[in-house]
Formats: sequence, C-alpha cells, structure tokens
Amino acid sequence: MNRFWDKVRQGFPDECWEWTGGTRNGYGMFAYEPPLPVSAHRMAAYLHGLIPSPYAPHDKLAHGFIRHTCDNRLCCNPAHMLVGTYAENHADKIERKRHPRTYGAHGGRLGYNDIAKIHTMRAEGHTHEEIAAALSCSTRTVNRHLKTP
Ligand SMILES: [Zn+2]
Repeated sequence: MNRFWDKVRQGFPDECWEWTGGTRNGYGMFAYEPPLPVSAHRMAAYLHGLIPSPYAPHDKLAHGFIRHTCDNRLCCNPAHMLVGTYAENHADKIERKRHPRTYGAHGGRLGYNDIAKIHTMRAEGHTHEEIAAALSCSTRTVNRHLKTP
C-alpha cells in the first residue's frame, strides 16, 4: 500500500502523521478501490489491523468506529486512534469538550458511561423517558444530549 503511505507525512511514533492528499469535511480521503473513497485515517487503521474494514460500519452500535485522541482529523498515526462504538466516540467528544450542560439528577455531571448509555439506549429504540429513568436524570437532560451533534 505504498500508494497510501506516500501521501502520509510520517513522523516520530508520538507525532501526528498528517495526510497530504485530498480531503472531505476536514478528513483525508483515499481512493481505496476506485471509485469508492475511504477516510485516510480509517485506511491507516485498517492497514495496521485495528479495524476489519476501511469502510465505516453502518450499524452505530457496532465496534469499529475510530476516534482520534489527538483531535487531528488528518492524522494517520494509528497510535493516536482508539476503536469503539459510535456512542463511545460521541461521549468521548462531549467529555473532552467539557460540555457545559452535562448535569445529572442532583446537579452532578453525567459521566462518560452515562452519556454513552444515552446514545446507546436511543439507538436501541428506548424512549427519552425510559433513558431518563435508567440514568435517574431528567428527560430534559436526555433531550439535550441527543440534540448535541
Ligand atoms: Zn495525531
């Protein structure tokens, strides 16, 4: 896969390895099996055996979504990637942005697992009321988290 790595500026193991080819939405894109482009960072993860396919899973509950620990969308360094479900990635994003409206029933912050659970339960088809009951928080809190992109 030299055609791929030629476009990655590889540095030291702890540095970001940025994609130098074409991009879409800030993510590097690579024509894997033309004409189907894949995200460059997913291709890097695939070539390193982190995920079974360079294509993103259709099922949001599936394991196999990549998140960057460095927040650099162009980064193709597998050491800067974590594999998880869509919900885990989403919760991680909120947690790291220090989302200001992350409060539980008694004014405490909802934890990483709580936020992941909101998205997982919603994806499984539970109502906002059921999710709120499961986490003993208000439906407004559940609504707020589900509205966050
Ligand atoms: Zn990086």
